[in-house]
Amino acid sequence: MSSLNLLFDADDTLWENNILFEAVIESVLDELTQDRAERAALRARLDRIERENIQVHGYGCAVFERSLADFVADVRQTPCGEEELAWIRQLCRPIRDSAIELLPGVRATLEALAARHRLFLLTKGAIDEQQRKIGASGLADLFEAIEIVVDKTADAYETFLATYGLDRRHTWMIGNSPRSDVLPALAVDLGSVLVPHPATWSLEQAAVPPVSPRFAVVERFTQLVELFGEEIAQELTEAHEGYEDYEDYDIPEQRAS
Ligand SMILES: [Mg+2]
Repeated sequence: MSSLNLLFDADDTLWENNILFEAVIESVLDELTQDRAERAALRARLDRIERENIQVHGYGCAVFERSLADFVADVRQTPCGEEELAWIRQLCRPIRDSAIELLPGVRATLEALAARHRLFLLTKGAIDEQQRKIGASGLADLFEAIEIVVDKTADAYETFLATYGLDRRHTWMIGNSPRSDVLPALAVDLGSVLVPHPATWSLEQAAVPPVSPRFAVVERFTQLVELFGEEIAQELTEAHEGYEDYEDYDIPEQRAS
């Protein structure tokens, strides 16, 4: 059988990430309100501010800190002082510094897949932050190439395919984000596997299409070994011929506000 090109997302696919952000958000909300209903409304307000800032400044911890400062200022109707900014920076320290916690079975699964397929890492975010996590994960040597992009749009996938000369019929994207790992990959005719993570960031959620020969959902990362096992991989690649085009699929605006 032919070997496949397997592109992996990193955050919340290979290792824990968003739980660190959620812990900071919880601390900030604790400071602002004890009321459950108000908490939900405030969270929606923060999401809106994050979307706006991401659109202008991109992803990463520095932008997250900026969003939190804007959010606190918005709620209190007064700009953050030095003390509040220092408090936010302190809360965010674990995002910058903490050890990488691989999700269960990740290393063994990647090693098994690497014996048969070509593995790539495709992640988005601030370059220095993503590099730190990749280095700390100890997984870098398992990938033929690693790319950190500003955003995982259909164009970003096209560029990746062109850069490495990959045949899209034999290429799959694997990740936890419907918005970044599934929809744009399907839009450029890649296969996609969603590995849902319960703590996936709200801004990464989106409706996904029904499963098909080119779109699978697995509960656990370790199930990828079975999915991309010899016989199944062959079937999936052949099934591409009859694969229904996703071009008309409604892809939500990547950064809709
Ligand atoms: Mg992810």
